[in-house]
Amino acid sequence: MSTPEVVWQAQAYLGEGPLWDERERVLHWLDVDGRKLFTLRGDEQVTTALPGRVSSVALRENGGLLAAHDRSISFLDDGELLPVASEVSPRARTNDGAVDPAGRYFVGTVAPDDAPGTGALYRLDPDLSLHELARGLHISNGLDWSLDARTMFYVDSLAHSLDAFDYDLDTGEIANRRVLAPIEIGVPDGLTIDAEGAIWLAVYNGWCVRRYDPGGGLLQEVAFPVSRPTSCVFGGDAFDTLYVTTAREGLDEEGLAREPLAGALFAVDVGVRGRPAFRFSA
Ligand code: ZN
Repeated sequence: MSTPEVVWQAQAYLGEGPLWDERERVLHWLDVDGRKLFTLRGDEQVTTALPGRVSSVALRENGGLLAAHDRSISFLDDGELLPVASEVSPRARTNDGAVDPAGRYFVGTVAPDDAPGTGALYRLDPDLSLHELARGLHISNGLDWSLDARTMFYVDSLAHSLDAFDYDLDTGEIANRRVLAPIEIGVPDGLTIDAEGAIWLAVYNGWCVRRYDPGGGLLQEVAFPVSRPTSCVFGGDAFDTLYVTTAREGLDEEGLAREPLAGALFAVDVGVRGRPAFRFSA
């Protein structure tokens, strides 16, 4: 296993939402608070200014991106946001999101001041109808599905655990939330599933990304030279590179001197492959 290498020192305030597009062979990621979309195409780095605080992007079957931002969900093309669902959440702003194997988009929310209990989880169906699935959440974060799609892995950061729901792929309903693994260091954030069904979890303030088996057993830990890994995704032509976003937020001058690479995009070979991102069916 190699060590994490900087791919793009973008000095993102809140790097997030890495997404590999295997058709275009590009990696997208975000600076949520910096309002930027970063696109890596080979060695070429393209930065697009965004008109909103985009927290998550997803691929669309019809091309272009779906974006959760502020209190809304929009299509995102050439830096323009075209609203699909406005005022998704009256109480909170959007955070991490992901598409399920049937092409539905899931996104959670968080209160602007991180006030506990004001977050919720939503599902946008391909017919663009919006459904609230859970409320009373804190900082809704990473989510992805097991290889058989019968489980949705999930993180609500302030619960300090890696959780799971039973998942019904026919209806898009979630049930029976339970803790798979308590996270005793830092704060759990974004996650992704690898081709063996294990869960890769970015641990914010934990200086690491961890691999858990589907039952919650810790398999592996990859140390980072920065304290705030935020999210991860597999990409590259063979899906054998783990891309990891990080954040500078909350670091004072001393902190930034200690972590000059904070806010960079990293890549690491972890000896296992990922799978393509699912696409929103619209
Ligand atoms: Zn996150």
